[in-house]
Amino acid sequence: MAKSVYIHIPFCVRICTYCDFNKFYIANQPVDEYLDCLIDEMSTRKDKVVETIFVGGGTPTALSVVQLEKLLKAINDLFTVTAEYTFEANPDELTEEKIKLLKAYGVNRLSLGVQTFDDELLKVLGRTHQSDDIEKAVKLSRKHNIGSVSLDLMFHLPGQTIEQFDDSLNKALSLDIDHISSYALILEPKTQFYNLYRKGKLKLPNEDLGEEMYQLLQKKMKSSHLNQYEISNFSRTGHESLHNKVYWKNEEYYGFGAGAHGYVDGIRYSNINPVNQYIKKLTNKEMPILQNSKVSIKEQMEEEMFLGLRMTEGVSKIKFQNKFNQSIEDVFGEDVKELINNELLIDNNDYLYLSKRGQIIGNEVFERFLLS
Ligand code: SF4
Repeated sequence: MAKSVYIHIPFCVRICTYCDFNKFYIANQPVDEYLDCLIDEMSTRKDKVVETIFVGGGTPTALSVVQLEKLLKAINDLFTVTAEYTFEANPDELTEEKIKLLKAYGVNRLSLGVQTFDDELLKVLGRTHQSDDIEKAVKLSRKHNIGSVSLDLMFHLPGQTIEQFDDSLNKALSLDIDHISSYALILEPKTQFYNLYRKGKLKLPNEDLGEEMYQLLQKKMKSSHLNQYEISNFSRTGHESLHNKVYWKNEEYYGFGAGAHGYVDGIRYSNINPVNQYIKKLTNKEMPILQNSKVSIKEQMEEEMFLGLRMTEGVSKIKFQNKFNQSIEDVFGEDVKELINNELLIDNNDYLYLSKRGQIIGNEVFERFLLS
C-alpha cells in the first residue's frame, strides 16, 4: 500500500541556470489542459487515505490563483491526508492570496526554494526572487499559521565564499524556521551551468571548500534549534519531513504528473517528461508511463541500505532482517566490517549509521552496498 503521494507541476516563470528537473517555461504552456490530465491520472489511484502529499516541481506557485484552487480542490476530493501536506513555493510567488488558499485546503508545510540570501548569487543562479522576498514569505506563512516552514539552501556555488554561505545560514536561522534542506551544487548535464563550465566560463569553488561548507553547515545547525536527521536535512523536533522519510525508508508512494516517479506494488515507474505527450496519453485514456520495472529482492536490499543510511538514525538491523529474512551482515558482511573498521560506519547493535566522516563522503559508502 502506498502511504504517500508526489504531484509534479512542471512549470516555472524562469529557468534557473543549474536546474535539471523536468520543468518548462510557463508562458504558452497548456497549463489548464495539464491540470485536467493530472487530475485524471490522480483519479486512477487505489488508496484514498495517505499519510503525506508533496506537491513539487517545477514550481506549484507559478500557477495562477484559479489554477491553484482547481488543483487543491481536486487533491481534496481525491485524497485524505493524515499527517503532512507540503507545497513547494518560490518566495516571490507566494502571495498572501495563495497562502490563504493553501491554508484553507489543509496545506500544513511549505518548502521554500531560497538557495541563498546573497542577491548577486541569486542572479547567477537565475532565480526570480531577492533576499527581501524570503523574509516576507516566511512572515506571511507564519501570519497564516502554516504549521511548518522549510528553506532550501545551496552551497558550493560559483564564486561563493565561506563567509557568504555563513551569512545565508545566519539569515535563515534568524527567521526561526522549522526545517532546512541544504545541498552542494551538482553540475548536471543539459543545464546552463554545465554548458558554461564546459566552455571554461564557470568556476566552482574547489572540493575542499565544499567540504568546509558542509562542516560549517553541521556546526551551525548543531548550535541552533535544528537537529540533523539526514545528510542534508535539519529540523526542529517534530518537523522532520515525513514525506522524504518515506523515500529514505524505501516505502511505496504514488508519483503523478509529467516526469514524476512512483513506487507502487513493488514496481518503480517514471512518467513521460514532455507536457504535450503527457497530455496526449491521458486524453487517449492511456497511462503516461515512460518506463516501469519490478524491483528485485537484490535491488530492494541495496536501496534499503543506501537510502536508509542517508538518515542519521541509519538502517534498522531488525527491520532489514524481518523484511528480507537475512541479516545485513549475511548480505553485505565484508563490506560492512571494512566500513566499520575504517570508521565510516557505526554499529550500535540496533542500527547501522554513517559516522561524521561517512556523511561527508556518503556516495563512496553507498557504492559499497551495490551487490554484484
Ligand atoms: S530550480 Fe526550481 S524554480 Fe528553478 S527552474 Fe528548476 S524547478 Fe524551476
